[in-house]
Amino acid sequence: QALGYETVVLDPDASSPAGRVSQHFVQADYRDLSALRVLADDASAITTEFENVPAEALAALAVNRPVSPSAECVAIAQDRIREKAHFTRCAARAEQAPSGLGGVAPAPYAVIQTAADLAAVPESLLPGVLKTARMGYDGKGQARVATREALAAEWHDMGGVPCVLEQLLPLALECSVIVARGRDGQVVSLPVQRNLHRDGILAVTEVYEGNLPPALAQQAQAATEAIANELNYVGVLCVEYFVLQDGRLVVNEMAPRPHNSGHYTVDACDVSQFELQVRTLAGLPLAAPRQHSAAIMLNLLGDLWYTASGEPHTPPWADVLALPGAHLHLYGKTEARRGRKMGHLTLTGPSAAAVRATALRAAELLGMPAF
Ligand code: ATP
Ligand code: MG
Ligand code: MG
Repeated sequence: QALGYETVVLDPDASSPAGRVSQHFVQADYRDLSALRVLADDASAITTEFENVPAEALAALAVNRPVSPSAECVAIAQDRIREKAHFTRCAARAEQAPSGLGGVAPAPYAVIQTAADLAAVPESLLPGVLKTARMGYDGKGQARVATREALAAEWHDMGGVPCVLEQLLPLALECSVIVARGRDGQVVSLPVQRNLHRDGILAVTEVYEGNLPPALAQQAQAATEAIANELNYVGVLCVEYFVLQDGRLVVNEMAPRPHNSGHYTVDACDVSQFELQVRTLAGLPLAAPRQHSAAIMLNLLGDLWYTASGEPHTPPWADVLALPGAHLHLYGKTEARRGRKMGHLTLTGPSAAAVRATALRAAELLGMPAF
């Protein structure tokens, strides 16, 4: 809308925050073909900001309208089995490439779809993390397992659905890279984001000079571009990585959309991840984004709307907004549930030290742990 486009949002949730700000809103199930047809008739180009939209719905829309990312790319990102196979393919290719950066492989893993797969799981993957192949987010649909017995019990509890078992890795830190790729193959990259997760949910993203060793940052950016190119991806793509205690980089998963770890770009970069999404969708040029301020983003989970004794309360926004470079974003979700992302706070500043000081003060004011 800021770029002059008229927008229409389709969402099954009548109280969808996106639906509230969009000029047009279609409340419908993603599988409602007649609603999709209305969308396709109205729109010149279509995208998704939610990775679990059925890939078939995107494929149906793509018959007469440009849809990006493609149904095929979204289908790969929706399924950890296909996703990891893609990462493995990219890593093997990079090993042969002359870049010298080498390939970035996923954690050692096994696919579990049958009882025979379960029995064949190598001992070396334990202790591990069992993850459902589909529909998991914020650490939901996954369980840590230390023994074969625990693995079998958890897989059974998950209903015996297709899963992957990954080796539990000794993490030093986590990071992510967001790229935007146009229909013409042009790729631009945002700076590497350093992420802290708590209980499987992104808690803090830090982006400034020196947030990661430069060689790792460069390797993560190159790997992300390769992952996007290999998919012939069009749109904004985020790839999450682990940095192991021995310094190795491992690719975790990807999200075929603007990502929570890129929300800081609205306040700290001259082109945000959301504008990049629009530009790829509309076939506009992709200018390389420039970060103009050091930034730290704190996710605001529903927990903050309750006191330690469980009483509902309003977080001290006025105190937080008194800090220099504080940008508060609340999404207008009506019900504050524990673990639910209600908004985020971005702190911007002239240096890493300055922004860390204000972010730690904001966390203290909000009753969030230090980092
Ligand atoms: P998202 O909300 O980012 O989509 P998700 O539910 O898809 O998350 P993952 O990203 O796979 O889940 O895992 C969530 C977090 O759990 C990771 O960010 C990491 O902190 C931890 N984790 C996942 N897999 C492993 C592993 N193999 N070894 C160690 N830690 C792991
Ligand atoms: Mg995920
Ligand atoms: Mg993740």
